[in-house]
Amino acid sequence: MKKYRGIYLKNDKEIGLMREANRLVSVVLDMLGEVIKPGVSTMDLENIAIKACEDFGVKPAFKGYQGFPFALCCSVNEEIVHGFPSESRILEEGDIVSIDMGVIYKGFNGDSARTYPVGQVSEDTQKLLDVTRESLMRGIEQAKAGNNLYDISKAVQDYVESYEFGIVRRFVGHGIGRNLHEKPEIPNFVPAGLPGVTLRTGMVLAIEPMVTQGTHEVEVLSDNWTAVTKDRKLSAHFEHTIAVTSEGPDILSRS
Ligand code: MG
Ligand code: MG
Repeated sequence: MKKYRGIYLKNDKEIGLMREANRLVSVVLDMLGEVIKPGVSTMDLENIAIKACEDFGVKPAFKGYQGFPFALCCSVNEEIVHGFPSESRILEEGDIVSIDMGVIYKGFNGDSARTYPVGQVSEDTQKLLDVTRESLMRGIEQAKAGNNLYDISKAVQDYVESYEFGIVRRFVGHGIGRNLHEKPEIPNFVPAGLPGVTLRTGMVLAIEPMVTQGTHEVEVLSDNWTAVTKDRKLSAHFEHTIAVTSEGPDILSRS
């Protein structure tokens, strides 16, 4: 596979396989959206995702990845990312749950995340979800050949901070392909003093802002995975895998 400054460039055939991987992820995320409601456990969601992967003949990408034990990351309320599905975590009215999922299809990874409201959520909570989703779309708009990588970062950061929400620094987006995490890292803020790379046609990127109601500082719980906001305020997470094409950004994980 061709590389530009350490970043794999995918050809049309490879992007086609990644489109299918990501389409399957979006189908599962749609299915989960239908069942998320008060009274459902996050393990129920995991079981649905596992069954769907079996039906589609794909491998969940996260299970076993660097030792992560599940197919889904289910992160409730103040949990930012990497939460474990659990039978004892019953979703309640007014909660939010971030579901992050990946699959491997014919050797290529799909990766996408959404934060869902559980039943009716407060206006403030809905605002957090709306701003996070829109910040992702603003970032994606900048994923054009010839732009700088940090044009994506800046678009996300400027939008989020205009609402006085926090943008998590500890976790970032990433290139994706045969590996779940490839170069480049895609921060959701502009790192001081670093020149970003120029975006090129054939790059496939997972852009994933994590946005908080309070501080952007993170703590990791004693399971060594679950990342929560230090002030325990809510956090939301949306992620799409996109390809940089000659016609602009192409969202592969679109529902
Ligand atoms: Mg993800
Ligand atoms: Mg990702």
